[in-house]
Amino acid sequence: MGRGVFFNREVFGADKLVAGVGKRPWREILAAAPLTARAQADIARIYEEAIDYLPGLTSAQKKDRLSRVSYRDFLLKIAGVDPAAIPYFQAMSQDEWGVGVDAVSALDVWTFDFPGFQGLKLAPGSAPRMGNTADGYADGGSYTFHFPDGNATIARLLVRKLIPAAVPGRGVEDAATAGVDYAQLDKPGQNVRVRLSSIAVGVRNIGGPEASRGVEIAYSRRGELFRVHAKDCVLAGYNMMIPYLCPDMSRAQKDALHYLVKIPLVYTTVAIRNWRAFKALGVSEIYAPGCYHATMRLNPVVDIGSYTSVRSPDDPILVRMVRVPCTPGLDERTQHRLGHADLLATSLETFERNIRDQLGRTLGPGGFDPARDITAITVNRWPHGYAYEYNPLFDPQWKPGQAPHEIGRARFGRIAIANSDSGAAAYTDSAIDQAWRAVNDLMQA
Ligand SMILES: Cc1cc2nc3c(=O)[nH]c(=O)nc-3n(C[C@H](O)[C@H](O)[C@H](O)COP(=O)(O)OP(=O)(O)OC[C@H]3O[C@@H](n4cnc5c(N)ncnc54)[C@H](O)[C@@H]3O)c2cc1C
Repeated sequence: MGRGVFFNREVFGADKLVAGVGKRPWREILAAAPLTARAQADIARIYEEAIDYLPGLTSAQKKDRLSRVSYRDFLLKIAGVDPAAIPYFQAMSQDEWGVGVDAVSALDVWTFDFPGFQGLKLAPGSAPRMGNTADGYADGGSYTFHFPDGNATIARLLVRKLIPAAVPGRGVEDAATAGVDYAQLDKPGQNVRVRLSSIAVGVRNIGGPEASRGVEIAYSRRGELFRVHAKDCVLAGYNMMIPYLCPDMSRAQKDALHYLVKIPLVYTTVAIRNWRAFKALGVSEIYAPGCYHATMRLNPVVDIGSYTSVRSPDDPILVRMVRVPCTPGLDERTQHRLGHADLLATSLETFERNIRDQLGRTLGPGGFDPARDITAITVNRWPHGYAYEYNPLFDPQWKPGQAPHEIGRARFGRIAIANSDSGAAAYTDSAIDQAWRAVNDLMQA
């Protein structure tokens, strides 16, 4: 099983799935693709030829130059790729950065092994003007582990540590399949109580931020309003909501909190009766740059504890599809705002029609019939998904302490601010580091 690319008729003029990515030469793979001969040759050149497109510069100078152009412009203006080849590259960066190649720097995607840089002989390692995700990959990070239920396993492990009776078992192996006893979460007399379905709607320092005597939190639960008092409070929800929860905060802090616009993401999961069509076509992962969902792949094989993945093509399996609503050509934060609107306004019917259409057209030649073979669809849409990471193409280089996330997360009386937003970094490590920092902000106050 290998990787493939699906070219759709709306963008490329004809529907065509090509397989063998990573196994056969690109010229051979693309020969069947609905692309001009020049576009085919340019894509193959970018993948396979080791050309120094920035001769005469040192590695550091090249990295600086690459940090100032989008990958799209690198391809067009520096590597001289024909514009007809760009739609093929357009969606390659969406999963990781939440925008297409028009809005991510060439330097950033170099760290993720995007093609075209092999002849530049760049020295390994991070560099100034690199975004946070790229920085992590440049210094040895990798996408290596996948829990069967995603990051939910991490939340289960945290809850188990706080309230052991709620999540029976021990260790990572049995966490994914452990049944959670929700009745244990909010029992009187426990040191830790977790109250679900409770939305904080107002948070204020009693006595004002300077002379705070504690915090009053108003929250809404099942249509009723409640109030709770606390010595300290950590706000760990989305930072851009905090100005509405704490209206008496300063204008400067509110503006800073509004700056970071969460990245919208959709993970769609489609249950299918079997994966014989994938097997027949020889692909487990398909990049579809012109389609509604730009990537789809069979659920990765993960065996952990009593959870085991399917092995036979005759067995039912999940297909994971990713959609990132982008508006190429605009700055990153504006694209995300439009993406939020898109996800909030799109009906499930629109998703379903696009999913059935895309799976049918991509896998039909392998015998797939959407009406017969799809058994369930789940669309998980996160209008507010990844935390925003500054983009060197659009954001200034702030002095230490002056970046919006640093101004925004300042302790406000007895209220501290966490969430991955307050680290301006998308991943779970940022969430954990920022939670630690927020608690320390209160302990030291
Ligand atoms: C699709 C997707 C895939 C991801 N994949 C990875 C990955 O592979 N690896 C990785 O490291 N990270 C991944 N992440 C990022 C990771 O999920 C985040 O870094 C992490 O969840 C951030 O944790 P947090 O506690 O800061 O915020 P969150 O997990 O966002 O938690 C904030 C919580 O606050 C609640 N909340 C908000 N407002 C209020 C309110 N007013 N009152 C009460 N509660 C409120 C929300 O409901 C939410 O439960 C992914 C994120 C997404 C969206």
